[in-house]
Amino acid sequence: MSLNFYEMLGVSKTASSDEIKKAYRKLAKKYHPDRNDSAEASEHFKRVSEAYEVLSDPKKRSEYDNPPRSPFGNMGFGPGFEDIFSEFFGQQQRRPNRPPPPQKGPNRGIEIIIDLKDSVLGTTKQVKVQRMSKCSSCNGTGDTKATTYRTCNACHGTGSVTFRQGMMTMQTTCNTCNGKGKIKVNPCRNCSGTGIKQEAVNVKVAIPDGINDGMRLRVAEKGDWGPAGYGDLIALVRIRPDDRYRRSGDDIHSQVKLLPSECLGGCEITVETLRGDKTVTVPPCTAPGTIIRLSGLGARNLKTNTKGCHKIEIFLDMPTSLTRAQMESIESLQKSGL
Ligand SMILES: [Zn+2]
Ligand SMILES: [Zn+2]
Repeated sequence: MSLNFYEMLGVSKTASSDEIKKAYRKLAKKYHPDRNDSAEASEHFKRVSEAYEVLSDPKKRSEYDNPPRSPFGNMGFGPGFEDIFSEFFGQQQRRPNRPPPPQKGPNRGIEIIIDLKDSVLGTTKQVKVQRMSKCSSCNGTGDTKATTYRTCNACHGTGSVTFRQGMMTMQTTCNTCNGKGKIKVNPCRNCSGTGIKQEAVNVKVAIPDGINDGMRLRVAEKGDWGPAGYGDLIALVRIRPDDRYRRSGDDIHSQVKLLPSECLGGCEITVETLRGDKTVTVPPCTAPGTIIRLSGLGARNLKTNTKGCHKIEIFLDMPTSLTRAQMESIESLQKSGL
């Protein structure tokens, strides 16, 4: 194995420039061709001079200490080591000349709050979405006719830069040019060369009947712009609580207050359901707390496509006082054993 430059000069790796100069002068004198005829001495002189040329120049010495490219080659690792390395370090080692395939833009999420009635009957909501759209001036290219490219100074066009972290030399994507190795000159002014521009768009979201709180609807291509097209808009649907109705699964619940005589003798009532008014016959002797089911008037189940019930719960509308006539009637009821 051949000696490294420090070993050739007989100095340590941390030697100062003075120490290096002294060591070189001593060796140069010893092996100088004027003083020696042997081929061996001449060869030695050449190699010592070569070492001094590098180590006496701070820039060259630094490059020698930290080789910018493929630092592992010098350490005796065989080919393929970088591939193993890249598996451990993922993107940091991605080769700039092998970019990932173009991708659609990201999906964008919004929340839509609807009334309970709309969740049962379905509706269409018009929403305004702030999204990253394709720039209309340059059609998403970020370029104009005047656009040219120059080589990135930060990475000298390689798209990646190396830096030291402790003992390791790491390679990472160049921030200045985002790994492209080149910088745009005279980019599209509307989008500063990015090809994308924030824009408010109106989106119609069709909300199917039967949708339940917490469900998500996907509206294709209403998300953000990316090189391979628009991402989707994902609408999270929330249902506003309602004063009169409560939803439980596919069933809708409401309450009806009946007078004591209506509970006792039965009656006909009009029930307001979310699917319209419905006449319901309450049979005699209906106790408070009774639940009357009106089938097919609840919410549609999106999986089975069947409809739930509208359930009415009977409450007693108890008077706070009675007239004399009412009292007399009740007395006669009591006499009859009721
Ligand atoms: Zn543009
Ligand atoms: Zn760069």
